[in-house]
Amino acid sequence: MKKATVGIIGGSGLYDIEGVNVIDEVTIETAWGKPSDSIVIAESDGVRAAFLPRHGRGHFILPHEINFCANIAALKMLGVNEIFAFSAVGSLQERIRPLDFVMPSQIIDRTKARHGTFFGDGVAAHIAFAHPFCERLQNIVENPARRLGLTMHRDEILICMEGPAFSTRAESELYRSWGAGLINMSAVPEAKLAREAEICYCMICMCTDYDCWKEDEKHVNVEMLIENLNSNARAAKDLVKVLLKEAGSERTCECGDTVKYAAITAPEKRNPGTVAKLKTILPKYF
Ligand SMILES: [Zn+2]
Repeated sequence: MKKATVGIIGGSGLYDIEGVNVIDEVTIETAWGKPSDSIVIAESDGVRAAFLPRHGRGHFILPHEINFCANIAALKMLGVNEIFAFSAVGSLQERIRPLDFVMPSQIIDRTKARHGTFFGDGVAAHIAFAHPFCERLQNIVENPARRLGLTMHRDEILICMEGPAFSTRAESELYRSWGAGLINMSAVPEAKLAREAEICYCMICMCTDYDCWKEDEKHVNVEMLIENLNSNARAAKDLVKVLLKEAGSERTCECGDTVKYAAITAPEKRNPGTVAKLKTILPKYF
């Protein structure tokens, strides 16, 4: 099985980029089950990247149905230590316009029924998650994004909602009153699991619409939404191509030591079955 150091989570055609050569397609079974789809391994300028479509090719998995544990475990098993995750989002603030890109710095978790940790079942661990996204990766993304002419916002608060239906007007206004800038359905638990697996993770959000709060905005119509999604997908491909040239630098951040002091169950009390599962993604501790 070919290995990769960079993970790209996002749309299904994201790997189909000029200058990025597909060298393998792998089907992986993890201790947490199967990821959303097979993973394409591609190479660009000596950097190997693993491409995983979050919703499966053809988009057949709803956000709450995604096996996030399997997705992150599969990437980790391939050798990935940096993930650039793309996501379509709605804007909750005037300043973030459709077709703008955003790298949020914070998350407010409004999901309700998702399995959000590799731990539990006899191995307790509490990781730090005060800063959910890797700032080092965000800094890698920022300049290439600007060079491509993308409008890139940072330091925004992202609401992750359960879905699959979009927000009510009252919910949208509530999130705005909290100061949140954008909303999606996929940051949680993806970002948390990446941190637990000691992978640097940043989310690159692509704005498609103004959610439902904006008085003067025509109601979001599907045609406009699809047009914006397609335009964002083209921009994302351009960005991935440049990103692969910048990825893989020295990990000066702390993401690689997240679990060092986080696992608190005494070794002799740990459930051997859970330890065996954790060994597949965190061999240096289990
Ligand atoms: Zn990091």
